[in-house]
Amino acid sequence: MLIFSSPAIVLRRMDFGDFDLILTLFTKSDGKITVIAKSAKKSTRRFSGILEPFSTIDAICRRSKRKGMSVLQEASLVKAHPAIRTDFRKTAYAGYWAEIVIEWSEDGHEQPSLFELLDHVLEGLDQGWMPDEVLSLLFQIRFLRFAGMHPNLTHCRVCGAELEGMPGLLAPFDLAKGSLVCEKCKSPLSRPFFLSKRLLKQLQWTSEADLDAVGRIKWTPDTEREASHFLESFIPHHLGKSFRSLKVLRQLRQ
Ligand SMILES: [Zn+2]
Repeated sequence: MLIFSSPAIVLRRMDFGDFDLILTLFTKSDGKITVIAKSAKKSTRRFSGILEPFSTIDAICRRSKRKGMSVLQEASLVKAHPAIRTDFRKTAYAGYWAEIVIEWSEDGHEQPSLFELLDHVLEGLDQGWMPDEVLSLLFQIRFLRFAGMHPNLTHCRVCGAELEGMPGLLAPFDLAKGSLVCEKCKSPLSRPFFLSKRLLKQLQWTSEADLDAVGRIKWTPDTEREASHFLESFIPHHLGKSFRSLKVLRQLRQ
């Protein structure tokens, strides 16, 4: 169909000439798409200030017949998420999640589970259900599952030894292999992350628990920092990209 409508999250917006906007949308029905919103800058009536980054809209779009850009014909606001845009840290977190989706997803491929996850964490970020850092852990670890890149946090990938049976409080994790590799099996040349067993278990729970139950997992500041450092290293490594938004986030944390 040439015309389609879908809930959509505004991932990015760019000015295009004096009147138009180019938007990267993450739609429920079609995944990531780029659309042009004609006269969106000129006419305050047409889209009445709702095409802001990280807001959720209902979008009606017209697909281009050839390979050109789709056109946003109408939009209505579903959730504005105003707190995200008025708080630098929240803006930085949302920007990081949006950048992950933009970098990883292919145009026009629907990803309904990832859409629901992003919608959920943006709502949580706006409403302050749980600390921003913990929401980011939730987004990252579940994104990795949907993307088929989930780290193996439960056993050695070589000999199968379970985390519980590994000696000490820390376990070696090979970033490149995306897995725990026990002391006996790790290559002498590798420089693994040493991750606390508590962190590994909490991340696994965060990945598997019902979304509503995730808020009950208690993170100490140290474990949360360790988990953030781990995932914010893992994702850029496995997507083969450095994230501009992550640099901003790190500066804000200093
Ligand atoms: Zn092993």
